Amino acid sequence: MTEQAQIDTLRTKAIAPRKLLIDGQLCDSETGQTDNVISPLDGSVLTTTAAGSKGDTERAIAAARRAFDDKRWRGMPPAARKKIMLRWAELIEAEMLDLAVLGVRNNGTEIGMALKAEPGSAIATLRFYAEAIDKVYGEIAPTPGDVLGLIHREPIGVVAAIIPWNFPLMIGAWKLGPALAAGNSVVLKPSETASLSLLRVAELALEAGLPAGVLNVVTGEGRVVGEALSHSMDVDVVVFTGSGATGRRLLQASAASNMKRCYLELGGKSANVVFADAKNLTEAAAVSAAGIFRNSGQVCVAGSRLLVERSVHDDFVAELAKAAKSMRVGDPLDLTTQAGAINNATQLAQNLSFVETAQAEGGTLYQGGQRVLEDTGGYFMEPTIITDVAAHHSVAQKEVFGPVLAVTAFEDEDDAIRLANSTDYGLAGGVWTSDLSRAHRMVREMHTGVVHVNTYGGPDVTVPMGGVKQSGNGHDKSLHALDKFLDLKTAWVKL
Ligand code: NAD
Repeated sequence: MTEQAQIDTLRTKAIAPRKLLIDGQLCDSETGQTDNVISPLDGSVLTTTAAGSKGDTERAIAAARRAFDDKRWRGMPPAARKKIMLRWAELIEAEMLDLAVLGVRNNGTEIGMALKAEPGSAIATLRFYAEAIDKVYGEIAPTPGDVLGLIHREPIGVVAAIIPWNFPLMIGAWKLGPALAAGNSVVLKPSETASLSLLRVAELALEAGLPAGVLNVVTGEGRVVGEALSHSMDVDVVVFTGSGATGRRLLQASAASNMKRCYLELGGKSANVVFADAKNLTEAAAVSAAGIFRNSGQVCVAGSRLLVERSVHDDFVAELAKAAKSMRVGDPLDLTTQAGAINNATQLAQNLSFVETAQAEGGTLYQGGQRVLEDTGGYFMEPTIITDVAAHHSVAQKEVFGPVLAVTAFEDEDDAIRLANSTDYGLAGGVWTSDLSRAHRMVREMHTGVVHVNTYGGPDVTVPMGGVKQSGNGHDKSLHALDKFLDLKTAWVKL
């Protein structure tokens, strides 16, 4: 059977109502309440999830605390923990297509991208951190001879991981991999609109041998479950990806409770800077189009601001518009689709209103701007290009999180740097040039966590990913991510 035929057999598979996972048991919410899960592909109700309450969340936190205190996980030999995490990755791999399709029906990402970025990336991430378990050492300090200074690295305790809708498995694994590898317990709170594949992956962790209570999952509303986690006196670390507004609430809750550490990954307004001396402007245009329009712009590092040197502005925008027009928007379960659905109706309405505001503020709607395929009942939008955008316009300052590209012309390198750094965000960016020195100058001057050079997107688990300024703090991926989940302890020993 072809891959497409396999996907087609899974696209209508019934999905049983999903429960919470607390202390190794699948259970209903204590209130018995459930939430409908709406498919962004056609607006239908896919299934229900348990609507977790404050009490459910507290039960999950207590289970995680017990699992941490009795050392059922952190006390296991590192090689045994590694084996369980590797087995977990294997089980996910065995269900890769099912998980990808389940995730797409829930969140709308095009399947071609989802296969790689969701189970594919989660598997690689879990393997990476599993392998790190028996390879990360403590340190011995260079002390005088009559003392011994040992630096231990210890798991911290209970971690709350709060996850958005756009890449639940990929981002989930970025948090779960290092948190669990470090020996902590976790309470995971998926997005209201993308929890199904994460719930299945958590069940697979149990199947792989992760002891009960080490990984708990509570679905439900952010203002209920998320608030209970962030205000808990018994959660030690919150790791979060999502909006700046929620990030602020997490910091406030931390200050108002036990001053838990908060590591935030909050959106961006990333500048993709194209110089006239770029080697191949046609290729740059095609990659730049994919860099904003894949997953219909619901990518935190999306190159949502295009800065183009004035001498090539008109030609480059025309080329990019051509590439955008040729992108196939539509059925996310078709392998040829290049831009899937918008995750939810509210986000779609927000995207469309950004287009209106952009024009009202002086931008020109160059291409797109409309909802499409409305008869499917799904949430689809054309790749949209707004030109004549000034640095102060909303569409240049605020994260749309949709397929909307803001284009601004620049005069020279200094002007490009000034514009690139002219937002409150600092997540990612891109530079297209054939001048090696200029490329490195731009990498230095762009105030962001990631800069792509002559490409856009693609960094793997070996490198850190995180922002500066209001894009947050704390990096996902790479061995550096382990630092969020390990405390340093000094032993100072008189010999
Ligand atoms: P959000 O911040 O509202 O939700 C993200 C997660 O936080 C979800 O699991 C949600 O339930 C939870 N949450 C919500 N309110 C909470 C609270 N008070 N306390 C604790 N947790 C809470 O973001 P969203 O609704 O998923 O998307 C809204 C906007 O966020 C988007 O338009 C986009 O701008 C941005 N976003 C960014 C990323 C990214 O990767 N940077 C991802 C998704 C969304």
